[in-house]
Amino acid sequence: MSQLFKRFVKEKVLPLMKQHNRIRNCTIIAHIDHGKTTLSDSLLAASGLISRKLAAELRYLDYDHIEQTRGITIKAASVCLSYSIGGTEYLINLIDTPGHIDFSGYVSRSLRVSDGAIVVVDAVEGIMVQTETVTRQALTEYVKPVLFINKVDRLVKEKKLDKKSLLLALNNLIQDFNNLIEKYKPAGYNEDLTVSFKKGNVAFGSAKHKWGVNVYSLLEWVGHQGDSLNAKQLLEYLSKFLDYVYSVYSHDDVDYIEKELSEKFPVERSVLEMVIKHIPDPATAQKLRIKHLWPGDTTTSIGQAMLNCNIAGPISLFIYDVQLDPHAGLIAFGRLFSGSVKYKQELVILGSQEIFKIQNLYIFMGKSKIPVREIPAGNMVAITGMKKIVPGETVVSPQYHDIKPFEELRYVSEPVVTYVVEPVSLRDLERTKEAIMLYTLTDPNLRFYEDKETGEMLLSGMGELHIEITVEKLKRLGVELEIGRPRVNYHETIIGPSDVITAASSDGTLSLSYQLFPILLENTPASSSMIDSELILSELSKKFKLPLLHSEHVVFLDSRRMNCIINVSQVDISAFQKDLVAAFKNALNTGPLAYEACSNIAMVLHNVDVGTAPQNISLLQLSDIFLKLHQVMLSVGMTLLEPWQRLEITVPERFVGKVVDIINKRRGKVIEISQSKYLYKIVSELPLRNTFGFSAEIRSETRGYSTWGAEFIGYKKVPDKEFKQLVITLRREKGLPEDLPI
Ligand code: GDP
Repeated sequence: MSQLFKRFVKEKVLPLMKQHNRIRNCTIIAHIDHGKTTLSDSLLAASGLISRKLAAELRYLDYDHIEQTRGITIKAASVCLSYSIGGTEYLINLIDTPGHIDFSGYVSRSLRVSDGAIVVVDAVEGIMVQTETVTRQALTEYVKPVLFINKVDRLVKEKKLDKKSLLLALNNLIQDFNNLIEKYKPAGYNEDLTVSFKKGNVAFGSAKHKWGVNVYSLLEWVGHQGDSLNAKQLLEYLSKFLDYVYSVYSHDDVDYIEKELSEKFPVERSVLEMVIKHIPDPATAQKLRIKHLWPGDTTTSIGQAMLNCNIAGPISLFIYDVQLDPHAGLIAFGRLFSGSVKYKQELVILGSQEIFKIQNLYIFMGKSKIPVREIPAGNMVAITGMKKIVPGETVVSPQYHDIKPFEELRYVSEPVVTYVVEPVSLRDLERTKEAIMLYTLTDPNLRFYEDKETGEMLLSGMGELHIEITVEKLKRLGVELEIGRPRVNYHETIIGPSDVITAASSDGTLSLSYQLFPILLENTPASSSMIDSELILSELSKKFKLPLLHSEHVVFLDSRRMNCIINVSQVDISAFQKDLVAAFKNALNTGPLAYEACSNIAMVLHNVDVGTAPQNISLLQLSDIFLKLHQVMLSVGMTLLEPWQRLEITVPERFVGKVVDIINKRRGKVIEISQSKYLYKIVSELPLRNTFGFSAEIRSETRGYSTWGAEFIGYKKVPDKEFKQLVITLRREKGLPEDLPI
């Protein structure tokens, strides 16, 4: 296999890499089980990389053993493909991503390095919660979507729709998808992004039976002449095409079905032709995207190189994935926005300022890494040689070490559950800690830390499955862990404003007068990209009659937890602002109720007295100021915030009552029950603490007839009547004294 890939890279990939107009970078995204991995197989087969016969069964990009045994995608996998249209060959850098919410971090990261997204939707299930989430993620990253409607065979064979109903179902689905696009299209995207079959950015078919049709293949098949195509003609052609599809499906022989349909309408053509004709090449895409993804000055030489995807310019590389290889060590995967990286070249990581030399330069073909000497801008690269690197880092040529990094990635979820973990054998404690720490470099959605009070090792992740898979992966690296029961990550916050507090450093050189205010929104947004700081400030100003606040007064400590410092004093704090943020952040890392992280707290600085030059103020002096912060918080009254999920469960009618009972029993809210196409869709919201074991319960109660998706919707206040008991329970679980003040 590796020899084949090597030859493919040498003969097909490398010659195309410098020709931007012949490159497309795209990601496949979808709700879980809608068919991404099956479709990717056919795309690989089209490049001759796997056998056509095995495509749709091999699940080549799910090469991880855990994925093969569990049948789900748990990571991003990249591969280079080639495809010819009209005698011109194109290079398609493709990333397959997971559909499960626990791995949504991979989707955000893969989209950052893509210019287009192939959104796969199951024709029977329609737009599901994760379809909406991934489409929103794509648009947030200024990534252009095209739509592949999959599993159309099910509409014919299983749902037995007649031709008219089938066309109506497809049309409704396209409408639903366009509604999503209109809803989430970001400012600055002036282009019409809506999709239609006629435009050519919608295809439909069956990845399983390896066929798909788009407007180009349809027109060719019917022998349409001329450039214009009216609605009546299109309907006539589609009707003729469906007659053909129905006649093929009237046979039960799958081999016959596949052969007939996939020869005339190969699924890869339907998809790759959309990609080539509707997704911009990297140079065109970067002209729009760089302004939104990089906050630096685009008139500088590196800014210009990024805007123009200049292969002769300085290096700018965004790292979207990091893997731990037993032989090569840390491998960083990135998109090269400018310059050409070369084997043994020196680069710098902006976050840590680590300067390193590239030890290996690879092109990845699924799990096979092919060493190369040079890769130009507009393509994906994989490098080794760094001591430490995490996804989201910016890597540049050393002389540009002081430029701004790419914008932070916007995740749609965050680590909301925590497990106590311990090594199976206590003798392995130190080795285990080191191994987990190294592993967390590869997954920015994991947190690993030690509870200083109890000495417990804690691993936080996006959900039960995320932790389960992490434990399995660590086992493969030789680290066996036992895990305790899941614990939800709560946030501690205040419920009212404090008095004005004046606090001084122990040496008396610095004194601050500050006041704390709660940022109590109905819902703390799930995604940092959704925080509207002006709105928060105007609410605060109104509610607490503060002077009108503007965003130049505010510094967000960590946008996700919404803690911020608002400076309304007359003193310019810029000389020590960074340390002030660090000191306040540190003080809010754990709260006084149950050592949970604090969130939604605004500190308004009314007065600042500095008895020395501001640049001489140290972090230690600033930390003194916040020694009594916990007491201040308790004096104004506190509460807990907890994570909530939105669940969308699709079941046949006979199970609706049962599912609603389970939701009610778990104190969830049923938001909507609707008849979605052929099934019933129940949308509900539940506190995360009541969702453990939920999917297993639903699956067994509906005898496997349910599909479901979940979305993290943010933090909400714990009900007042449950608050005290919850604090006591948390203290008990963590071995803290139960009788501390609440
Ligand atoms: P992913 O989670 O999006 O990667 O989905 P998979 O590719 O793993 O597919 C999920 C399930 O749907 C598998 O059992 C596939 O065999 C099945 N599947 C994929 N494409 C089709 C299709 O076109 N028709 C039908 N009937 N089943 C399909």
